[in-house]
Amino acid sequence: MLRRTACLALLLCFAPPSFAAPKPKASADSVEQAGYNKRKKELKKYHEKEQLDEKPVLEVLKDNGMFASADASGFRPFKVRVYGGFYRWPLKAGIVSSEFGKRWGKRHEGIDIAADEGVPILASAGGTVIYADDKLRGYGNVVILRHDDATTTLYAHNQKLLVQKGQQVKAGEQIAALGSTGHSTGPHVHFEIRVKGKAVNPRKKLIKSKF
Ligand SMILES: [Zn+2]
Repeated sequence: MLRRTACLALLLCFAPPSFAAPKPKASADSVEQAGYNKRKKELKKYHEKEQLDEKPVLEVLKDNGMFASADASGFRPFKVRVYGGFYRWPLKAGIVSSEFGKRWGKRHEGIDIAADEGVPILASAGGTVIYADDKLRGYGNVVILRHDDATTTLYAHNQKLLVQKGQQVKAGEQIAALGSTGHSTGPHVHFEIRVKGKAVNPRKKLIKSKF
């Protein structure tokens, strides 16, 4: 009951399928959708100012061997281990205020999910922390997790970080608290999924959400 109330307050749930709340009635659904759309429109205004340059992120990934072509000889002695599980949303509830892709002539390499300052940011999948600091210009307090030999997730603009470089984390474990640090004008998480350094649309990997 508590969970359902919390979800309605933020209008959106990112629960894995097995924990999904029972399907609401169609009418309640459309009211929820209308409220969500209105709030999303408001939140989009301030997220239009977020401008991020991916260069510092690529440096971190390169240092951690996340590019298949990083080896100059082209010789890869080990088979790339691929994580076969799913990626969960990094928040229990929130509003997607900006999608992945082209934005005002520049590429937006992730999706922005707005929610209240301080709410838990969760590891999208199990992995190793390869970055947890505030030295990537524009990203504020940021965490980068490595899930297999090719895939990483990134969580930017956090209020505070709760993990350290080298630490192992489980899927769904809290890694940070949501904030608005770095180049950000309102509380949100800028979330990226990269494969061999290249950003992919997180929605293609995340559990399906109706929003
Ligand atoms: Zn963003």
